Amino acid sequence: MPSSHHIVVVGGGIAGLAIASKLPRTAGRTPIAVTLIDREPAYVYKPMLHAIAAGTSDFSQQETNYIAQARDRHFVFHPGELNGIDRDAQRLRLGPLMIGGRSIVPERTVSYDTLILATGSQANDFGTPGVQQYCHMVDSRSQALDLNREIRTRMLESLAASSTLSIAIVGGGATGVELTVELVQLTEIAAYYGATGLPSQVKVKLVESGPHLLTAFPQRVAVAARERLARLGITIVTGARVVEADAEGLRLADGRQIGADLRVWAAGVKGSDALASLGGLEVTRNNQLVIGPTLQTTRDPRILAVGDCSSLALGREAKPLPPTAQVAHQQAAHLIRHLSTWVEGKDLPPFTFRDFGSLVSLGGYGAYGSLGKFGLFRGGFIQGRVAELGHVLLYRSYQSQLHGFWRGGLIWLADTINSYVRPRLRLD
Ligand SMILES: Cc1cc2nc3c(=O)[nH]c(=O)nc-3n(C[C@H](O)[C@H](O)[C@H](O)COP(=O)(O)OP(=O)(O)OC[C@H]3O[C@@H](n4cnc5c(N)ncnc54)[C@H](O)[C@@H]3O)c2cc1C
Repeated sequence: MPSSHHIVVVGGGIAGLAIASKLPRTAGRTPIAVTLIDREPAYVYKPMLHAIAAGTSDFSQQETNYIAQARDRHFVFHPGELNGIDRDAQRLRLGPLMIGGRSIVPERTVSYDTLILATGSQANDFGTPGVQQYCHMVDSRSQALDLNREIRTRMLESLAASSTLSIAIVGGGATGVELTVELVQLTEIAAYYGATGLPSQVKVKLVESGPHLLTAFPQRVAVAARERLARLGITIVTGARVVEADAEGLRLADGRQIGADLRVWAAGVKGSDALASLGGLEVTRNNQLVIGPTLQTTRDPRILAVGDCSSLALGREAKPLPPTAQVAHQQAAHLIRHLSTWVEGKDLPPFTFRDFGSLVSLGGYGAYGSLGKFGLFRGGFIQGRVAELGHVLLYRSYQSQLHGFWRGGLIWLADTINSYVRPRLRLD
């Protein structure tokens, strides 16, 4: 029996968890052993984090626990944070596992034959003073839960004191827009449960440095979304570059001050700072690992990278692919299809990206999007139920990829039943 080939996947998000769950376990006669590493105990689908932060979606129903998933899908799960790679020894280093400030498991090393980095991205504060100290972020399950705790406390305070609560969100991309709308929806649902003053007490402001919101989207989508936001009473401030954050609010480059009791930074995208010094791999100035069309890193073919933590330009003049769920999903599918033949010694075929379009979901207030640039409706504009359905299907197809068709369907059914029988808001 040939010895097994050990594939280590770091980052159990959209790309990494799909790879760990679905990668074939043999390559010819060589068994493949898969280990997944993540610093969190469970994954919540990242495009849903704004709803977890607002409390309009219950995280305990939506998360996939890594230990349970490892048992179901036959991989090994190691909790821990990647903080170093020794490429010559083909070994990576995990920091100590801390719980409540105590080190539960010391620093460890894990050996690999093939390493797949899928550690995602985080908002980019561009070194703006005060952001780390005074702003929340929504890049991970823990951050979304922290923000949710803060929002619930602040809203209760403001209800008790009959005072206003101003919340400023920095970043007019999809994350900022979706979070802003979710907060408005939160106040309306809270009003249904008796907090009738909340919609007028909570003031939500969206601050964007560029001249428009949603610059990565077609203009028609951006305009429709902006009009909808304005109708919801959201204050939109564009052309406003934040140069400092403090406990009172945000200071802009032109000297203006935006007062905010609670501040959320949802601007920019970069790979984690740790990637910049990881085993001397090539990174962009946003700390994303540079990869070629086969998804291998430029300096080490045994290390591949997928999703937001990577930067891939297909074609000489082309811009790198955007950091979206769609790209992460397709890159994972590419490796699931071809990695086992590569382990057998064959070449990896180049990855091709199929753009199915882009969607922005405004919670209960609709969705807008554009279709991909192929097929009958190439580049067409969609809105309303069709766009909402597109958004839902993206999530549900991800769940069925992780859990299988029938179990994914049952989870969908359970969610639908829960939406009728459980409160629509986190009320504890
Ligand atoms: C609020 C919000 C809304 C969004 N909405 C949309 C949308 O509508 N459509 C869309 O296409 N995209 C959307 N996105 C972007 C989308 O979520 C990302 O593009 C996608 O999740 C990237 O997938 P990934 O697999 O690369 O990384 P992720 O899904 O982010 O997973 C990364 C994983 O790596 C782990 N990790 C990170 N660092 C380490 C480390 N050092 N050691 C161990 N583990 C580590 C993390 O815990 C995480 O589990 C949204 C993002 C946010 C924040």
